[in-house]
Parts: sequence; structure tokens; C-alpha cells
Amino acid sequence: MKKQKIEEQKINTECKDKDCPRHGNLKLRGRTFKGTVVSKYDKRIAIEFERMVYVRKYERYARKKTKVHARLPRCLEKDVNIGDLVRVKECRPLSKIIHFAFLEKVKEGVNTKK
Ligand SMILES: [Zn+2]
Repeated sequence: MKKQKIEEQKINTECKDKDCPRHGNLKLRGRTFKGTVVSKYDKRIAIEFERMVYVRKYERYARKKTKVHARLPRCLEKDVNIGDLVRVKECRPLSKIIHFAFLEKVKEGVNTKK
């Protein structure tokens, strides 16, 4: 019983982020994207993924890259590094560029840089 109480306290004190999908009251809805982390900032990551766009002039598909900024809560800051493959989910706009939040890590990056 005692151990359980201590663990609960830890979870509560670890993360005071109200924009954390797990501990706060941030609701995730909308689109989900999978991409590689290209840069890491304070409480934010930028992911990049490729998509195919049809070019009518050449009747072929071209590769285009999309960059998306996602909220990274404090409690997960140490788990995510540049090069990792992660999944993000859409949420309400948290700032001018952040409309997504970190969901889960799919694969660890090979060339981990800090
Ligand atoms: Zn949290």
C-alpha cells in the first residue's frame, strides 16, 4: 500500500504541464502523422516526413517534405532525441506554429545527436 502511494505522488509531481496530453487537459483529435525528429527545442520538436504529390505536367509523382512542429511535454523531454521516428497527433493550436502534440515513439534514431 505504501509503495503505491509514493508512486502516485511521483506521477503527480513529475509533470505540471497543463498542455500535456497524459497529465494535463490537452485533448488530441484530428490527423496523426509519423515522422523523423529533425530538431528539438524547449517543449517543442519538429518532425519531417515525405509525401507524394502528383505533378500534372509530367504525369508523375514528386516527393515533397512536410515539417510539423509538435508539443513535447516536460515529462517526455528526455525520451525523445533527434533522429527518432515518432508519431504526433493534432490538437488545438497551442501557438502560431504548434498544432500537434507528441504521441509516442515508434523507433529509436540511429544517429543520435544532441
Ligand atoms: Zn506529462
